[in-house]
Amino acid sequence: MPKRKPRAPRNAKKPAAAAPIFQVEGKMSTFGGPDDHGVSPTEGLALFEPPDLQDPKYASLFLPAPPPGTSGLARRLNPEKYYLACRWDYSQTPRKFLRDAVAVVFNPENKRSANARPADWGPNVDTKRVTDLSPGMAAVLGLNTDDVVRVSISASAPGPPPPKIARVPKGARPGHGTRNRHAKPVIKKFVESPNHSSRNGAPITMVVLHCTEASLDSTLTHFQTAGGTNPVSAHYVIDRNGDIYQTVRESDSAWHCMGANKGSVGIEHVALETQALDRPQAKASAALIRWLLEQYEIPRSNVFGHDFTPGYNRPGGTSCPDKLFGPGHSQATVAAWVEANV
Ligand SMILES: [Zn+2]
Repeated sequence: MPKRKPRAPRNAKKPAAAAPIFQVEGKMSTFGGPDDHGVSPTEGLALFEPPDLQDPKYASLFLPAPPPGTSGLARRLNPEKYYLACRWDYSQTPRKFLRDAVAVVFNPENKRSANARPADWGPNVDTKRVTDLSPGMAAVLGLNTDDVVRVSISASAPGPPPPKIARVPKGARPGHGTRNRHAKPVIKKFVESPNHSSRNGAPITMVVLHCTEASLDSTLTHFQTAGGTNPVSAHYVIDRNGDIYQTVRESDSAWHCMGANKGSVGIEHVALETQALDRPQAKASAALIRWLLEQYEIPRSNVFGHDFTPGYNRPGGTSCPDKLFGPGHSQATVAAWVEANV
């Protein structure tokens, strides 16, 4: 299609920006990377093929090696890189164009924006979302699942679209989307902790439950503090009112249960030594645990109180999780709560 330069309207103070050739606004979620168990280990990407890993232009979007047990490109995406999926209309934005295009993702809530590379076609229309972003990009833009974003690609993006490309047959590809029948509970905020390390390929097989014995603020502050005598973290912190904060990505080990960090996800619950879970907190915790069990195919019997976790080896042990799940400090108490609530 021949391009005509749009005329700036009379009296305009600034030249009018060229109309974007692609724009959507709506809810988002995240996808891709070793942690995304919503896509199968063999699932590929609509815009890239394995030979693209040899091309430095594309290879930078991917991890240097496939995550253990996977062969598809979707799980090999580097979740820290900025990429995204939209339900592209290939007759407007052909696949070849998208492979080299740059999309701008804008968070109207905080006015932050960042550039991202198109990587896949999705999300599945049933999700009622318009885009899936890399976890790293969502974090940088301060976005949580189902927040609203605007995605646009302007005509000045590199690589002019070739004019004629056959439209993808409807229903040819459903787009990615989690197979977990439980939705991940909404994370109120990702407050990154420097206290984390690689899982070294260890699979996630346990969920470990903790009591903060401290306020939400002092817990999050402590987790953001590197070094010192006791650098610690947990993947999640659940406040008394049910708000869930995340501080470490599930693909990394958090430092919450000495001797058992490699294969576990740690959840802190804000409570004093003598307090039980508050009602909204218990509900949020049960929903998060349910999602984790499904996501990583963890048996219910592998949800442990901190002190009772297999492999936990801190000398002297701990009084955690205290009275969170009932009056007795025992794994039986924790297991009974899981049985009744998760
Ligand atoms: Zn603990």
